[in-house]
Amino acid sequence: MEKKNIDWSNLGFGYVQTDKRYVSNFKDGSWDEGTLTSDATVVINECAGVLQYAQTVFEGLKAYTTEDGHIVTFRPDLNAARLKASAERLEMPAFPEDRFIDAIVQTVAANEAYVPPYGSGATLYIRPYLFGTNPVIGVKPADEYQFRVFTTPVGPYFKGGVRPLTIRVSDFDRAAPHGTGHIKAGLNYAMSLHAIVSAHKEGYDENLYLDPATRTKVEETGGANFLFVSKDGKVVTPKSSSILPSITRRSLVYVAKEYLGLEVEEREVYLSELEDMAECGLCGTAAVISPVGKIVDHGKEICFPSGMSEMGPVTKKLYETLTGIQMGRIEAPEGWIKVIR
Ligand SMILES: *Cc1c(COP(=O)(O)O)cnc(C)c1O
Repeated sequence: MEKKNIDWSNLGFGYVQTDKRYVSNFKDGSWDEGTLTSDATVVINECAGVLQYAQTVFEGLKAYTTEDGHIVTFRPDLNAARLKASAERLEMPAFPEDRFIDAIVQTVAANEAYVPPYGSGATLYIRPYLFGTNPVIGVKPADEYQFRVFTTPVGPYFKGGVRPLTIRVSDFDRAAPHGTGHIKAGLNYAMSLHAIVSAHKEGYDENLYLDPATRTKVEETGGANFLFVSKDGKVVTPKSSSILPSITRRSLVYVAKEYLGLEVEEREVYLSELEDMAECGLCGTAAVISPVGKIVDHGKEICFPSGMSEMGPVTKKLYETLTGIQMGRIEAPEGWIKVIR
């Protein structure tokens, strides 16, 4: 298979149209057989449920080329389960989990020419999503839905080296205590846009959202979970029913315990405790872990001892172990790697 002529290591994180995408439609109570198509355009009615009342959920994962030349994805069964949970919360029909994995495999295989080579740092980002398609004007769930999967090659996250982030404690809230913070819904992102644009204007990379009920506990950023390392070497990650359950964070917790022999605490984390932390990172599919150097709480700076020029030592070990597992350099736990080719 001849690869596309793309400058892999200089790719950014943007949409690059690839050859094929997967589409399946839900109508009269069931999903059709699904197919790959070359048509990147979606045509829906002007009154479609997704356009009027934002009835849409999504997933994000990646395909990689491993050291020995296979094309793989990482724990797609967890994305399948999470999409199902997200769909159910928004009264949408779940796409069957086994068919979700089959759709990922088919879409990646059909776009093999866009899977970046091993060592380039680039990956093929996979975006599965589900939305209401038929006209809905009175507020209720749609009756018809579309499930799609497209892929787009994305460049190395740490181009030109690691740069620890500076984030601010946000005055906006991300997710209400019994709301939709724990599902991967477009609506959670629409309402975060104003907060992130204003954070960027003020020179911050990200927003740290607090729990809206008490505004004392750390939740997450707009699109990544927190992982801290305490000064006594424990990995600490916030626990809350309104945090999106990051697959990267859950995998890093396993790696910390089982590969690195570290103690892990999943618990409520108070903003007031952050001064006692040695390292801080943001976990998600995009970067695996991005180190955070500084958190600013209304003028008060919390500077982590790991500093503004490199990852902290524990963060780095976690990052290297998990990326080693993904790229086939370190043996993976049973069931973590789905081989496509
Ligand atoms: C997708 C997402 C994450 C990261 O989850 P991964 O499964 O690790 O990619 C974290 N927080 C939010 C709000 C998200 O939408």
